[in-house]
Amino acid sequence: MATKALDNFQSEVRAWLDDNCPESIRGPGDVPGGGKKVPIKDPDARHWLDLGAEKGYTVPMWPEEYGGAALGKDEYLVLLEEMRRIKARSPLQGMGIGLIGPTLMEFGTDDQKLRHLPRIAGGEIRWCQGYSEPNAGSDLASLQTRAVADGDNFIVNGQKIWTSGANHSDWMFCLVRTDPDVPKHDGISLLLLGMDQPGITTRPIRLISGDSPFCETFFDNALARKDDLVGQLNRGWGIGKRLLQHERSGMTILMGGAAKPVSTENPFLKLIKAYGADDALIDQVISHQMRDRAYRLTQRRTVAESEDGQTPGPQTSIMELVTAELEKEDANIKTLLRGFRGLGWEGDGFTDDEIAATRHYFSVKRRSIARGSNEVQRNIIAKRVLGLPD
Ligand SMILES: Cc1cc2nc3c(=O)[nH]c(=O)nc-3n(C[C@H](O)[C@H](O)[C@H](O)COP(=O)(O)OP(=O)(O)OC[C@H]3O[C@@H](n4cnc5c(N)ncnc54)[C@H](O)[C@@H]3O)c2cc1C
Repeated sequence: MATKALDNFQSEVRAWLDDNCPESIRGPGDVPGGGKKVPIKDPDARHWLDLGAEKGYTVPMWPEEYGGAALGKDEYLVLLEEMRRIKARSPLQGMGIGLIGPTLMEFGTDDQKLRHLPRIAGGEIRWCQGYSEPNAGSDLASLQTRAVADGDNFIVNGQKIWTSGANHSDWMFCLVRTDPDVPKHDGISLLLLGMDQPGITTRPIRLISGDSPFCETFFDNALARKDDLVGQLNRGWGIGKRLLQHERSGMTILMGGAAKPVSTENPFLKLIKAYGADDALIDQVISHQMRDRAYRLTQRRTVAESEDGQTPGPQTSIMELVTAELEKEDANIKTLLRGFRGLGWEGDGFTDDEIAATRHYFSVKRRSIARGSNEVQRNIIAKRVLGLPD
């Protein structure tokens, strides 16, 4: 885009944000995940989502007919910059805009795009990911959940596990076995199915941190429409892997409208002031913050260097691995800074913040397993990025 046009766009966006972004949305805080089952209690967040959806800024680069603003890459980077300037949070986040949306854009039929994408962009539908099973995690292609064609539908039977947010979701994208008699990668299909039907039950799994972020999901003659098969029958493995690249790229947050705003106060400085720290610990803080900053800049460079904002291929595993390590390192250093006060689990001897931080320290361990374990990411980097032999 010519510089003049881009300058005009920047002025327009700046004025729009200044006029419309509520004060309470400027700074760290929650970002709604959309859907029918989790009401947005904060009226400002509701208003910001409605405005964002109307303007196409929940999915800025999607075409207008699917609820986006049809921004080019340059304009999109300007929008990110302007949102960052006022520390505006994204109006919406979730697996709809980050995972299944971009996948449908690449592989969906026109009908699927028209039925699903605008509802994703508007935050009307929350999605969950039905991939892992009790005997199929890293070796995902061993999945056994069966889908059998029956008239206009598929009938689905089996079980998924670790399904994040399944109990709060309206729809699921699900890898199923549609041909058990061929090599395992060749008999898998990707289906979309509504969660509100008698054939689907979810059971939340409770973690040591006290959270319950994911569920077991059971299918007992659940129905998926045949026109909700994504891509060709038995060709779901390649599409399912592409969806994981969208997930692992870390561009999900960016595609939601803006990178997570940086807190006005350096959280490490706050802890150093409160608890004190020796030079060695301060060195750790500085190295970590430099790595974190470098990662964020790399993430932005990925968008800048991509073709029309397209998600890269297997290189996304590098991003996933680095993010997982950074998030754990962040929690670890904060625990070290708190000293023994970083070990509080419950009771009056610790503040609410300290207790929450201990739970976060445990909870963040999941990052090296979720979205594919660190070992699996390293395997992908070795084989598909570096071209090392099997
Ligand atoms: C917080 C969280 C959220 C999740 N959300 C979802 C979700 O929404 N939907 C969904 O479908 N799944 C979800 N998962 C599941 C996640 O994708 C799996 O847990 C992950 O793929 C690992 O599978 P697994 O648990 O079966 O472990 P396994 O595959 O049994 O692995 C066990 C260990 O063996 C190692 N290992 C396995 N194979 C290899 C190999 N070839 N080389 C080297 N090491 C190997 C692994 O790295 C791991 O350390 C979530 C998991 C977590 C923790």
